[in-house]
Amino acid sequence: MCGIIARMSLDSNPIKTIQGLKELEYRGYDSYGILFSSFKEESIVYKDIGEIDVSFFNNKNIKSNIEIGHTRWATHGDVEKRNAHPHFDTANNFFVVMNGIIENFQKIKINLIKDGIKFNSETDTEVIPQLFSYYFNPLCKDLRQELISTMGKVIAELKGEFSFLLKYGDFLFAYKNMNPIIVGFLEKEVFISSDINLVMNNSDEYVILDDN
Ligand code: GLU
Repeated sequence: MCGIIARMSLDSNPIKTIQGLKELEYRGYDSYGILFSSFKEESIVYKDIGEIDVSFFNNKNIKSNIEIGHTRWATHGDVEKRNAHPHFDTANNFFVVMNGIIENFQKIKINLIKDGIKFNSETDTEVIPQLFSYYFNPLCKDLRQELISTMGKVIAELKGEFSFLLKYGDFLFAYKNMNPIIVGFLEKEVFISSDINLVMNNSDEYVILDDN
């Protein structure tokens, strides 16, 4: 099982997320990816196969308030850059990192392709952001409520054992039905991971999410 991590913070230095992702390497992985975003700004995604080079990111001096990251242990789709997480929908609105397996992804993917949606990867994970985009109504009055309602529709379609983190704009969602997700809190920061020690070492208080 690989690792997932996310941070949302008023502190625009993402080093905790980069370092945290590096610490998740002990769980085994073949590739990795990380998304950086400042509030109300576009997301930048880096993906690669092999080892995480912390100095590469440090040298870039990235400013970011929201990050999601992933160390992948491929189950569906070869070990290739395009299959590394985060995955996103065609319009680049919904970004997802996932641990686990979506058993019925082929059926969902075939139906979405029939509706004209183009996929970028071979993974099971990509159906999550594509389904979000499919069900989400961007003209809604209440964005938060629409996201929660879309989450319900997407989850109802997915079979398997998995946990995922999703970023949409300045919203961050976590879902799990088996693999652990721990949410940590600091005064001006939320720090999330599949690894309890990582969250304990990076937050003042934390909660372990229950199933569903
Ligand atoms: N099934 C997903 C994939 O192959 C996630 C695997 C994992 O838990 O790293 O991309």
